[in-house]
Amino acid sequence: MNILFLDQSGKLGGAELALLDVVKDYPNALLGLFEEGRFRELAEQNHVSVKVLSHQAIAVRKESGWLAGLSSLGQLIPLVAKVTRLSHDYDLIYANTPKALVVGAIASLMSRRPLVFHLHDILSLDHFSSANRRLLVGLSNQFASLVIAVSQASLKSFIEAGGRAELGAMVYGGFQPEDYCDDRSSQTFQTKAHQLRASLGLQNRFIIGHFSRLSPWKGQHILIDALAQCLPDTIAVFVGDALFGEQAYEQELHAQVDRLGLNDRVHFLGFRSDVVPLMTMCDVIAHTSTAAEPFGRVIVEAMLCEKPVIAAQEGGALEIVESGVSGWLVPPGDADQLAKTIHHCRDHWEEALAIAKRGQEQAKRRFDLTATRQQIHQLLEQVIRARS
Ligand code: UDP
Repeated sequence: MNILFLDQSGKLGGAELALLDVVKDYPNALLGLFEEGRFRELAEQNHVSVKVLSHQAIAVRKESGWLAGLSSLGQLIPLVAKVTRLSHDYDLIYANTPKALVVGAIASLMSRRPLVFHLHDILSLDHFSSANRRLLVGLSNQFASLVIAVSQASLKSFIEAGGRAELGAMVYGGFQPEDYCDDRSSQTFQTKAHQLRASLGLQNRFIIGHFSRLSPWKGQHILIDALAQCLPDTIAVFVGDALFGEQAYEQELHAQVDRLGLNDRVHFLGFRSDVVPLMTMCDVIAHTSTAAEPFGRVIVEAMLCEKPVIAAQEGGALEIVESGVSGWLVPPGDADQLAKTIHHCRDHWEEALAIAKRGQEQAKRRFDLTATRQQIHQLLEQVIRARS
C-alpha cells in the first residue's frame, strides 16, 4: 500500500510519535511535513522517507477564528498544490493533524485519492474555536472515507460536533513493551535512572515526574500547587518544553515556583528524548490536564514503566486507568486532591507498587503496537477496496 502521510508539525508531540510507529510499517510511504524540525530528524533516523513541504509553520491555531484562517491562504495554496501533485503517486492520503486535514481534503478532491483523517484531539470548545471545529467536521464529513479516533472520548467528540458516525473508527495508540521496562530492559533503565538521580542530586528524594509539553491545559501549575502541600523531601521534575508558543506559561510556572518558595524542589528539564530512564527515576508519575485529554500517551508509558500513575479524571485517561486498580484518578484541576493522593501513595507504598504492577500488565495487554498496526492496516485496506 502506498500512502502519503501528512502532518503539520515539525515538533514531537504525541500525535507525531504515534504516527511514526504507523509509518514505519509502510516502506513505500512518504511523510509530508508542513514544518522543519525534530520530527523530520527522528523519522529519517527511523529510515522513513520525509519531505518538508513548507518552511514556515501555518500561523492558524486551534482556537483561531475564520479571519486567521483566511490570512493563511497565501501559505496554504502552494502547499495544497504540492500535496496534490505528490498524491497522484499514492493510493491514499492520511492526514494526521487538523491542518493536514485541511490540505489533504482539497488535495484528495483534486487528485481523486481517498482521504483518511486520524483524529488525535477532542473536538470540544475547550480545545478548538467553534469556527475551526465546524471546519474540521465539515471537511471530514465531505471528503474523508474514514476518521480514526484515538480514544472513545475523541470519537464521541467528533460525533457530538456533527461528524458522521459511520465514518468513525476507534484505535488506541500502541506501544512496544520492550521499549519500556520489561524483564530484559529493566536493568539497563534502572542503571540509567540511578545515574540520572545522582546527576540531579536527587538521591533519597521522593520524585514526582510530569511528562508533557508546557501548556496551560496540561496543568503543570496544578502539580506545583500540590507540591506545596507535600512533605519537604518531595520533588517535582517537569519533562517537556513549551512547543507551541506557550513561553508565557513557562514564565508563569517559574514565577509560581518562586512565589511558593519551591525553587529547590522543582526541576524543569525541557524536552528530552530519554523519557523511559527519566520515568524509571521517578517514584510517581502525575498527569494533570485540566481539559479532557484525547488519549494520554504519557499515562500508558508510565504504566509500562511500572510506575504508580495519578491522572486527571477526564477524556482518554478514564479509558486507560481504573482508579485504585491500575492507577489513581483525581478531579482535573484539583491540587488538594492530587496532594492527598500523593500522600496516600507514600503512606501505602505496598499498595502503590501492586497498582503499578497491575497497571503495567493491563497496559501491555491493552495498548500493544502490533494490534494497533493491524487494526489501522485493516481499516486502510477497506478504504482502498471500497474505492476500487
Ligand atoms: N515526550 C517526549 N519528551 C518530552 C516530553 C514528552 O518525548 O520531553 C513524549 C511523551 O513520552 C509522549 C508524548 O511526548 O509519548 C506526549 O504524548 P501525549 O499523548 O501524552 O500528549 P500530547 O503531546 O499528544 O498532547
